[in-house]
Amino acid sequence: MSTDLFEIVANYTYDWESWFLPDGQVRWVNPAVERMTGFSVDACLTMPDYPLEIVHPEDRDAVRALLKSALEGTSGNDVEFRIQRRDGQVGWAAVSWQPMIGPDGERLGVRTSIRDISWRKSAEDALRLAKVDAEKADRAKSRFLAAASHDLRQPLQAVSMYVSALARREADETSQEILADIRTCLDAGNELLEDLVDISRLDAGVVVPEFSDVAIADLFEMLEKSFQREAQDRRLDLRFVPRSIFVRADHAILARILQNLLANALRYTERGRVLVGCKVRGDAAIVEVWDSGIGIAPEYQDKIFEEFYQLDNPARDRRRGAGLGLAIVRRKAALMGAPIALRSEPGKGSVFSITLPIAQGNEAFEVIREDGQLDLTGCTIAVIDDEPHQLNALETLLRACGGQVIASNTIDGLVNRVAASQVPPELAIADYRLQAGARGSDAIAAVRFKVNRTIPGILVTGDTDPERIAEAEASGCRLIHKPVDGASLVRTINQLLGKVSSAA
Ligand code: ADP
Repeated sequence: MSTDLFEIVANYTYDWESWFLPDGQVRWVNPAVERMTGFSVDACLTMPDYPLEIVHPEDRDAVRALLKSALEGTSGNDVEFRIQRRDGQVGWAAVSWQPMIGPDGERLGVRTSIRDISWRKSAEDALRLAKVDAEKADRAKSRFLAAASHDLRQPLQAVSMYVSALARREADETSQEILADIRTCLDAGNELLEDLVDISRLDAGVVVPEFSDVAIADLFEMLEKSFQREAQDRRLDLRFVPRSIFVRADHAILARILQNLLANALRYTERGRVLVGCKVRGDAAIVEVWDSGIGIAPEYQDKIFEEFYQLDNPARDRRRGAGLGLAIVRRKAALMGAPIALRSEPGKGSVFSITLPIAQGNEAFEVIREDGQLDLTGCTIAVIDDEPHQLNALETLLRACGGQVIASNTIDGLVNRVAASQVPPELAIADYRLQAGARGSDAIAAVRFKVNRTIPGILVTGDTDPERIAEAEASGCRLIHKPVDGASLVRTINQLLGKVSSAA
């Protein structure tokens, strides 16, 4: 084939090709340059500084250095730079280059091949923008969720307290039954809100595991007490195979994880058995929850750990939660650095397991035992909430338990009443968000200042916004989430006032 023919073939190459002589002079450029840059072949060949004039000013140094190294004999691929077209528009290109050696080994110079990648770059930019938009939308959704659960908590909390107050009064059987039904509904609502709060707290990073030596046998005993009844009701054989070993874990977090796994095992097992065991592998203990239930197909075994992911349940079991249980389990286990694993076969059953390090010694561990005494006789408590309904509900509950209440809906009002009261408050309870941007922690600080004593404080928050939770925890008061269950509020008060014994 003649040289002319080779040149014709080369001229038809789609990418922008150039041949530089060993001294750096451009010897040949193909017509694709015009399509990509708007500069003609002749313009390129007579350009004093080819190809730098076509390169974006900010990338010229890099391309100059690349050409220099190419002329020294290097080769390379896909180095990206910006071009500046004849009409001033900026585009993206990727250059590959290699030295050209003649048939007798003589150096003929360098061949560069430049591809237009502008379309790919704009697709990447569009993706980046879409990602930023999606993240913005995600944050907006989280804020919406936090706000929605906050507003939902207000009425639930009030109802919960009224119910607690009402349940203490004498009522006929029918009224008591209705009250029990209301409680059941409240419990379901509370459960969902608790899960949402749990997730926000875990995502906010305010949950810090407190490691201690946890006795597996005690944990299993506690689980047996909580679940045996339900298993019997469902005619399931629930067995525990304890071992006398201690694991290194956060007691409350581990207990919650196992409660969740066990609740699921019972929930998704129609007949047969549920077995909880613990095996030792080297330095690790693997706690396993076995069930002979419906099982999970392999393609769903990762998905069920995502938020709100539930597999279709033809029986439409109404006791199902919202699909947050395993999402919480996954976060909590990760917090302790404890891997969760799942083996399952549809129709046969599932085994969920958590792997924990075995504790070094068999040190004793502490369990705080609450005596559950719901009595506030002789206690004076300062209360602030800017929502009259909430304030009234809280006052009603505390009074129903025999407490004395100093209440107001503003900080000034509360401080004045505290000053006027014959008995100073021993404890203060404040809603976290008060009117006009004031915070509950400011109210508690003002009361402490007035009584000249750091009395215990309880901040009640409906916020699931992670930042708010972190902020509230930093104020040093006990943080409790709305809707507050009356009994546990009274228990917390007793605990803070040292009226509840804690035993080792
Ligand atoms: P929920 O139980 O509230 O639906 P979870 O996050 O606890 O939410 O579980 C997510 C899904 O995983 C459940 O809806 C169920 O389909 C499936 N699942 C969880 N545990 C089991 C189990 N032991 N056996 C079969 N399926 C299970």
